[in-house]
Amino acid sequence: MSEIGTGANLKCEEFLDTLEGLPLNGPGGATAAGLLRQLPSELRGHAASCSSCESALDDLAETRRVLRTTAGEVLEPGPFFIRRVMTAIRLEEAELEEENNGFWISIRRIAPRLAVFAAVLLLLGGTWAFEVRRADHGSMPVVRPADGLFESAPSAPPNDDIIASVNEGR
Ligand SMILES: [Zn+2]
Repeated sequence: MSEIGTGANLKCEEFLDTLEGLPLNGPGGATAAGLLRQLPSELRGHAASCSSCESALDDLAETRRVLRTTAGEVLEPGPFFIRRVMTAIRLEEAELEEENNGFWISIRRIAPRLAVFAAVLLLLGGTWAFEVRRADHGSMPVVRPADGLFESAPSAPPNDDIIASVNEGR
């Protein structure tokens, strides 16, 4: 069993190698029958008995046909092809637009929440700035009024008392 399989595989390899080596522009090179005609008779017999080699032969013939067509002439896209491409493009554009719209719709949906959030942030920031400023004013003025206190000491009544008490103490 396995020997027959290996033998068949070897034959397949030989067949495929010979097939690949066939000239591209040989007589009737673009059809399976034309390719077969160029093969040695024993390989021709193998193609008839081996389905995988037969399909490989068909594939190669098809490939060469396409290659010939492409090389020989510039392929013009048919109207059906153009219509299909245009439809595909339009579908894609619509999808993109929908995605965009979806994005903006979701933005619009969360916009009120964003506004509230921004307002809260502003409020917090304002309060914080106010607190900081008040803290500044709270700590600095302690020194400044003290300066003023000493400068205007004679005219301020409480200071008179202090001076009086100091004098009394002496
Ligand atoms: Zn084969």
